[in-house]
Amino acid sequence: MRITVKVGTSTLTHPSGHLNIRHVETLCKVLSDAKNAGHEIILVSSGAIGMGVGKLNLTCRPQDMPTKQAAAAVGQCELMYVYDKLFSEYNHTVAQILLTGEDLRDEARHRNFANTLQRLLELGALPIINENDSVATDEIGVGDNDTLSALVAVSVKADLLIVLTDIDGLYTADPRHEKNAVLIPEVRSITAEMLASAGGHGTALSTGGMATKLSAAKVCMEAGTDMIILNGARPNVLYDILDGKSTGTRFIGRKNT
Ligand code: GLU
Repeated sequence: MRITVKVGTSTLTHPSGHLNIRHVETLCKVLSDAKNAGHEIILVSSGAIGMGVGKLNLTCRPQDMPTKQAAAAVGQCELMYVYDKLFSEYNHTVAQILLTGEDLRDEARHRNFANTLQRLLELGALPIINENDSVATDEIGVGDNDTLSALVAVSVKADLLIVLTDIDGLYTADPRHEKNAVLIPEVRSITAEMLASAGGHGTALSTGGMATKLSAAKVCMEAGTDMIILNGARPNVLYDILDGKSTGTRFIGRKNT
């Protein structure tokens, strides 16, 4: 399978902005194993701003654009350093691709990106993609990595997009506030109720929340790609997916019959 995996800041870092070593080490190990088993993996990773916050000893996520972009420039290096180190331990070679919305909207740039990515996969590398936060502005940005990962998954015709986040999947209501909320294992169409209960907030260091995950799911479903939301605190659950077991919430892509 060709699998795009998106990992969010809440999985990669502690609220302090420092690396969550347990999560990242397990993630790299499981993805390396998936590659060894013959799957093609494309990782869309957030965490640049979050790790920049930690590395620059800032007290919280910056609100102004220049500080955010500076934090991303610092954090992106740290992020790739960590991935390079951990994936190298399992003999995998990482490659960094930083994109803006323009790169996906403009036909020629999009073609270049797709060709590079295809070649990297043929060469056995593990592409790691993030938004180019240090140059992206509101006008040219994708804005959040849930959407970016869906655009990437569709563009490379991935069989599956797996979104790792800080919750087990999509619930009937926000389980942090509603104790009767239950996990929805499978979604065939996104309803107005789901959108209404999704809310719009991420954590102190990240951008997303469930709303951006639902719009990413919509992009995937319309293109016929399945998307699964899983809890990134237990990256081992990725093995269940590879073994064909059902876990998290699976959004079923529309298949043309
Ligand atoms: N590109 C941002 C970062 O690396 C994250 C965006 C997101 O969390 O959706 O910090």
